[in-house]
Amino acid sequence: MIRYIIEKALSGNKLTADEIALLFEVPLFSYDSALIQSASRQLCEKASDSFAEVHAQVGLDIARCPRNCRFCSFASCNGVFSENVELPVEEIVARALDFESDGANAIYLMTTARYPFEKFIEIAQEVRRSLNPDTVLIANIDDFSEKQAVQLKNTGFAGVYHALRLGEGKDTTIPPETRLKTFRYAQEADLILGTCVEPVGPEHTIDELVEKTIITREVKPVFSGAMRRIPIPNTEMARYGTVSKARMAHILAVIRLATGYEIPGNCTHEPNVVGVAAGANVIWAETGSNPRDIEEETEGKRGMSVHQCREIFKEAEWNVLSGPSRFFRTGKTLRTLVEHETVIK
Ligand code: SF4
Repeated sequence: MIRYIIEKALSGNKLTADEIALLFEVPLFSYDSALIQSASRQLCEKASDSFAEVHAQVGLDIARCPRNCRFCSFASCNGVFSENVELPVEEIVARALDFESDGANAIYLMTTARYPFEKFIEIAQEVRRSLNPDTVLIANIDDFSEKQAVQLKNTGFAGVYHALRLGEGKDTTIPPETRLKTFRYAQEADLILGTCVEPVGPEHTIDELVEKTIITREVKPVFSGAMRRIPIPNTEMARYGTVSKARMAHILAVIRLATGYEIPGNCTHEPNVVGVAAGANVIWAETGSNPRDIEEETEGKRGMSVHQCREIFKEAEWNVLSGPSRFFRTGKTLRTLVEHETVIK
């Protein structure tokens, strides 16, 4: 049965919820798990024309965030940071320029949910003006309205990273419908969407993983994938522990097979060789604030550099794209190419 499901995915057919669940249930380090990871890598290379991408995120602020996502170091309830910190605009521009010259394929600006939207737009305009016009800029911010989606587009963002997280509405104060609405507003404003199944913890059931995998497929992003939860010390969620990188490789491989050729990218975070070998082709460098870190500055700590991310891809025998992200610039074209290839097989 497992071989049949793998073949079905490789032939470009959509997997059902039951089939995805069966793949998640396969024991780690079994022959079938190795087959799933190998097929995932094969599908990922075909879907992305054999190129991986390094994206790079600047975290603009630290604040006691009222959304209280229990897995996040900024959540007010976790009490990790006592003071608000904001990077000055010159520093944000400088860091974005550093990422650009290091060869990042896309640059993300991330804020906590308490960061004023209008201020974010002003800073983004400054960043946009400073970068090469071809450099792909992505927003990773709070939920936004229809009008704000248009403002993001007009500011020069190519897309957004947004996710309906595991435990949304239970481990966070954000109703899942709000996240879904934001996906819709973004896409109506012609902002390209990147998303993934996150933050994966050891306590999550297969049903939850399947549900979120299908949501990431149905919202038609340019990448899905899987990110594990990093325990924030002395918080309630830390008691659940961490999913190993080996298990994350199996999880992201199942997601790769479930999301199919129409979605060219499959991400994992934090970057690691096992995960990219098993079919992740998007990873992130980070600077500034980081919701998985308890340090104000993540660069040189949890946050990796563009160079380190490239090395990780190299160790897993991936070609890394030079120039602006193809996922965010030509996602539709790639999908069309893939559809064509699938049809002529
Ligand atoms: S994940 Fe985002 S919205 Fe949730 S607490 Fe952290 S910064 Fe706030």
